[in-house]
Amino acid sequence: MKKIISLGLAAVLLVSLGCAKSPTGRSQLILFDGDKMAQMGLESFETIKQEQKVSTDPKLNQYVGCVADQIIKVLPDEWRSDWEVVVFDSEQVNAFALPGRKIGVYTGILNVAENADQLAAIMGHEVGHVIASHGAERVSHNTAAQMALKLGAAATQGTEYQQATMSVLGLGAQYGVLLPYSRTHESEADVIGLKYLMQAGFKAEESMELWKNMNALGGERPMEILSTHPAPDTRINNLAEHIEKFRAQGVKALYPRPNCRR
Ligand SMILES: [Zn+2]
Repeated sequence: MKKIISLGLAAVLLVSLGCAKSPTGRSQLILFDGDKMAQMGLESFETIKQEQKVSTDPKLNQYVGCVADQIIKVLPDEWRSDWEVVVFDSEQVNAFALPGRKIGVYTGILNVAENADQLAAIMGHEVGHVIASHGAERVSHNTAAQMALKLGAAATQGTEYQQATMSVLGLGAQYGVLLPYSRTHESEADVIGLKYLMQAGFKAEESMELWKNMNALGGERPMEILSTHPAPDTRINNLAEHIEKFRAQGVKALYPRPNCRR
């Protein structure tokens, strides 16, 4: 019975949603609506806050909040309010953004992102995944078809549902179910994030420095941002190319560079 209901729901979503365009103009198949994704994001964020240690260090929170505020200022109109930013006290080199407007930054990543510009590059990338509906797009594709049926039957709030949700949102590293974003999604998030970085008044070239630092980490790469092992040079070249392109297009700082200090 449950399966029949789920298929019915999927069919309704298929009809009512469908083709969309990402911020870079790429055509997308989106079978999940924003409210559903936001609900998934909110639930996952609550779980993470319960399970991970939230940092109460005022300096660190102020620093991360300062960078986040600046990025949020340059997002598209409808995305400029109601974000929650939480710093997690953990050595993990990790950060994420979720539909439902949640940003998580692990203290471990602050050792890799050497300055506010590099932290802004990470946040721009993560927020880029959200604004480009990458989670929703992922639920709408192939392997995600089954997952979508499970998620459609949201009545089941057990472990299986939670894991499926987490993996779709790129949160699997901590929960053993990481489903990496595709290279298309990673490159697109890099490009979207770079534009925010430039408009927010941060130093564009620091995005390339960030990747050099990330790549120097080597070894295990549990975090979302490194999960697809894109060739480091390709990623850095893509950024260099788009810095030129955006400058040629007249993309520039809409605000002075903020003085975010740790
Ligand atoms: Zn990513």
